Amino acid sequence: MSEEKSLHFLEEIVEKDLSTGKHTSIHTRFPPEPNGYLHIGHAKSICLNFGLADKYGGKTNLRFDDTNPVTEDTEYVESIKADVRWLGFDWEEEHYASDYFDQIYVLAISLIKKGLAYVEDMTAEEIAASKGTPTEPGRESQARSRTVEENLSLFTAMKEGKYNDGEKVLRAKIDMSSPNMHMRDPIMYRIKKTSHHRTGDTWCIYPMYDFAHGQSDSIEHITHSICTLEFEVHRPLYNWYVEQLGTFPSTQYEFARLNLTYTVMSKRKLLQLVQEKLVDGWDDPRMPTISGLRRRGFTPLSIRNFCERIGVQRRENIIDVGLLEFCIREDLNKVALRRMVVLDPIKLIITNYPDGSTDILKGENNPELEDNGGYRDMPFTKELWIESEDFQEVPQKKWFRLAPDMKVRLKSAYIVHCTGFKKDETGKVVEVHCEYIPESKSGQDTSGINVKGTIHWISAEHALDAEVRLYDRLFQAEDPSDEEGDFKLNMNPNSLEIIPTAKIEPSLKDAKPGDQFQFIRKGYFTLDSKFTTEDKLVFNRTVTLKDAWAKMTSR
Ligand code: ATP
Ligand code: MG
Repeated sequence: MSEEKSLHFLEEIVEKDLSTGKHTSIHTRFPPEPNGYLHIGHAKSICLNFGLADKYGGKTNLRFDDTNPVTEDTEYVESIKADVRWLGFDWEEEHYASDYFDQIYVLAISLIKKGLAYVEDMTAEEIAASKGTPTEPGRESQARSRTVEENLSLFTAMKEGKYNDGEKVLRAKIDMSSPNMHMRDPIMYRIKKTSHHRTGDTWCIYPMYDFAHGQSDSIEHITHSICTLEFEVHRPLYNWYVEQLGTFPSTQYEFARLNLTYTVMSKRKLLQLVQEKLVDGWDDPRMPTISGLRRRGFTPLSIRNFCERIGVQRRENIIDVGLLEFCIREDLNKVALRRMVVLDPIKLIITNYPDGSTDILKGENNPELEDNGGYRDMPFTKELWIESEDFQEVPQKKWFRLAPDMKVRLKSAYIVHCTGFKKDETGKVVEVHCEYIPESKSGQDTSGINVKGTIHWISAEHALDAEVRLYDRLFQAEDPSDEEGDFKLNMNPNSLEIIPTAKIEPSLKDAKPGDQFQFIRKGYFTLDSKFTTEDKLVFNRTVTLKDAWAKMTSR
């Protein structure tokens, strides 16, 4: 980050708190609910929480907000930890809200003893119906007048499993006519006779988000509890619990969540895509999950740079997904190894090249790196594979690639002159014939011939086969969740194109998942971690070289 960059509003708040002595050091937390995999929106929150602590010498906890046993699972816990680490962050302490169930229960008892909480008999529907509207006060429940003793014994009975789900809840006694609906005697505890992924069947009552979250912050002495804007209206309740209980005064701050064009981001919707098998799991390379982006070939740096670029605001906005693609291109251009891969091969036969002879040419690994990142061997032989779209029988205007009697440079090799071609019985061109110009070898060209086009190639004898997967956006609507109807109707039917037999250069034989490649003229690719086997290499396209989508839609 450059020094002159102005501070975002949370950095300003932290600097003020440190300079006035309100805090001597800061402590943030990242609090995912383990009910799904992390997505790029979470990355924004991770970069923000860890970034603030890193910048101001503070600490960040990872806290699993696991107070709803119905949706949570250990699989999610593990994936979340792996994703946070992969993004490049390390937490100070690892906590689970469920570890605080005893403490939170004791806090509830103390609110009951202060006459600030009561056991309610109404159902959730009845409670909602009696809450009033923003302009009309709610009705006070009869249960409000219960004595402390009665509430203590009912709450104990709730805990002991004497009631069924929904039969009773514990409510805070605040103000049924508050203009803030969240202050109208909110629910603190509900009964759920469901096994919890960590506490098993120890509990059958579970604290609600507002109570558990704020008090977990206090227990951990979190100074700045950062959440997304929709929780702004919950802040008075967050503060009320802290004040009434006299616990550590954590303070909640809200920022705008990340929204991306052509992307759905809510875990609930992503879960639907997974469950209905519309994608190949949470880590499908088209998913906006961290694990999907990783499998797709995104780097942690590109995601951190993206989060840095979008900044931190207090107003809702929507970011062009093109910016994310820009960030990955920018990073991969600097690190990806250049390789030659032919997606739709036809033979090119160099008629004046000796039969059975092989010339080992050197290909630069990456011209952006010092000394081109080193060189790899590229065998050159009489029969090559080239891209069928690089030959036109009748060339269009301004065609600089191969056509009868035209010359083109084979990348890092020779200039060739097209002398003919062969068609099969269906009329499809299956072979292109050329003569090469021996004195035009790249790097030592004395031919004096200038050509405008350069194409890629692979020695047919040495080429390996691979499957290549080309991805496009999963949704074709700019805001897929916008319409009333089913967001899945906005899915792009062409978001995955599988090329079963591409020809790849031999140096790709030892590629590993996580290696980054630029397939020259084709885009950035990485080896797929899931479908690659001993005998089959599968490559994922991370991103095209340029933004083909922008070009298509602006036409
Ligand atoms: P979702 O709505 O996708 O289910 P969530 O808010 O329920 O997300 P949590 O696991 O509760 O997911 O989120 C953990 C943290 O990540 C919270 O602090 C939350 O505010 C933040 N977060 C979630 N989604 C986004 C987003 N799109 N942009 C920024 N921060 C986000
Ligand atoms: Mg949530």
